[in-house]
Amino acid sequence: MEFAVSKRLQELPPYLFVEIDKAKRKAREEGRDIIDLGIGDPDQPTPQFVIDALSKAANDPAHHRYALDQGMLSLRQAIARWYHRRFSVILDPDAEILPLIGSKEGIAHFPLAFINPGDCSLIPDPCYPPYKGGTIFAGGKIALMPLLAKNDFLPDFSKIPSAKLKKSRVMYLNYPNNPTGAVCSLDFYQNAVEFARGNNLIIISDLAYSEMTFDGFRPPSIFEAEGAKDVAVEFHSLSKTYNMTGWRVGWACGNRSLVQGLAKVKSNLDSGIFSAIQVAAAAALDANDDFVRSLCAMYQQRRDALADGLGSLGWKVKKPKATFYLWVKIPRGKTSIEYAAMLLEKADVVATPGVGFGSNGEGYIRFALTQKEERIREAVDRMKKTL
Ligand SMILES: *Cc1c(COP(=O)(O)O)cnc(C)c1O
Repeated sequence: MEFAVSKRLQELPPYLFVEIDKAKRKAREEGRDIIDLGIGDPDQPTPQFVIDALSKAANDPAHHRYALDQGMLSLRQAIARWYHRRFSVILDPDAEILPLIGSKEGIAHFPLAFINPGDCSLIPDPCYPPYKGGTIFAGGKIALMPLLAKNDFLPDFSKIPSAKLKKSRVMYLNYPNNPTGAVCSLDFYQNAVEFARGNNLIIISDLAYSEMTFDGFRPPSIFEAEGAKDVAVEFHSLSKTYNMTGWRVGWACGNRSLVQGLAKVKSNLDSGIFSAIQVAAAAALDANDDFVRSLCAMYQQRRDALADGLGSLGWKVKKPKATFYLWVKIPRGKTSIEYAAMLLEKADVVATPGVGFGSNGEGYIRFALTQKEERIREAVDRMKKTL
């Protein structure tokens, strides 16, 4: 028997990385030496002190039972301390913070708590794909906000059609941004908060890359804007900040009714994060900044190697102030999928076609700085020889 999947699943946008995934697998099977700059997953290990905290906690039977739905108080307190240290923002660990099994989980489940069938979500285009999936699973509709180079990849709120705006309940913002590497100012957040208040919108701020920054840049949290806690929930994660993508730990925080709505959804879906992981996550957040600083220094060297290298090929590349992505305009004449396929075929280099993040990503490819500097230099050399 073969069963048809639900309408919901059928409604998901097509997965546009199929072809490039297939080509990559084939190239590897042929024994070719592929340099994969496609995936946004840190190549470096989790810091040893975090692993040590996990193994110590894992040996304690107290951590072998179901965790609390709302996360351990000690982790929520560590998150509150981190927010205060980093942004001077005060959060109540009892009601304004919810640990998550990775922030993707919370980002994708959030619409189940606040979207009714037919409601719209305002979603940036291009964007991190789970924004769309979460809305579709909740029976919602997607209203796209184009992120254009001429606007520094910030949405133009005045261009949202009023019929769409009236139906919209939530708006996703993601700065520093995946895939464009763009950043925003506190003024932008202040405007967004006022826009949300005026239009009865919830803001979902995805802050996954707030610590991966260069040239001394320090991105704000939306809660540094006045009145933000009235309208916003913000997501952060240990994944990129501490090389912990596989551990699955992040959190939502902010407006208590938003945090508690998401908590209610989750209490019906999962039973919390393995508590030994929560102990280790608190240890990471409470540590000093040395690890994160050295991580940023490493990515900055990689960024410079790739941006300068592509520059020497005649490409115009703007160095991002944050994230481990380079969002690069490709020469005219090929789609981003064709261009990525050609890069793989000719140079054995993998990059992600921009259109996979939304139609406004067409004309771009995304390089992730998730290989050692010498491999990045090698990738540039190969492109020099073959393109
Ligand atoms: C990597 C990433 C996340 C974090 O995902 P986790 O589920 O916490 O690993 C969130 N948002 C964006 C835009 C990302 O790129």
